[in-house]
Amino acid sequence: MNIRIGYGWDSHAFKPGVPLKIGGLSIDHPEGLAGHSDGDVLLHAITDALLGAVSVGDIGSFFPPGDARWKDADSSIFLNLALEEIRNAGYRIVNVDTTLVLAAPKIGPIAGEMRDRVAELLGIKPSDVGIKAKTPEGLNADHVAQAHAVVLLQKIENADDLRVMEASIESEEEIEKVLQKIGTQAHDIDPRPALKPLFDTDDIT
Ligand code: MG
Repeated sequence: MNIRIGYGWDSHAFKPGVPLKIGGLSIDHPEGLAGHSDGDVLLHAITDALLGAVSVGDIGSFFPPGDARWKDADSSIFLNLALEEIRNAGYRIVNVDTTLVLAAPKIGPIAGEMRDRVAELLGIKPSDVGIKAKTPEGLNADHVAQAHAVVLLQKIENADDLRVMEASIESEEEIEKVLQKIGTQAHDIDPRPALKPLFDTDDIT
């Protein structure tokens, strides 16, 4: 199968006196999110979505909350592990979409910055990251931040070949050879056929 989907969800309660971090972004706000780690609810949801997409468990199975090593940990550590898992499985991210549910702070004004930060952490383009936010109307959850995330992964073509090539590269000469080979392969790809009009417009009367 060439594509796989993953879904993640997380929630953290707000707590006074701790820094607020969402999507790897430090946000100026009187309260932060309580958690064993830095409480970054969005990165946790994305991490679970990535792990779920390649069916290797969830964030809790890799980083148990009781483990002192992850106390106040930067959540990008969790995300990096998930990225490694999907690479090992031979997949790359096509796009990520997310929804935050929280009463405050307002995400709209910082959504662009958050999108750039998440894209940077994932190593993908900002245009492949969706950041949306809603208030928890009727949920009686004004002191909680929730995050939903979906990811789409695509199988890396010839992943085994790429790994073999990586392992066999020993010198700059080798790298040059590999680059030339890749260039040759790229030139061998048939150009996309030119679009032909369905009719000759001169014939329309
Ligand atoms: Mg969490």
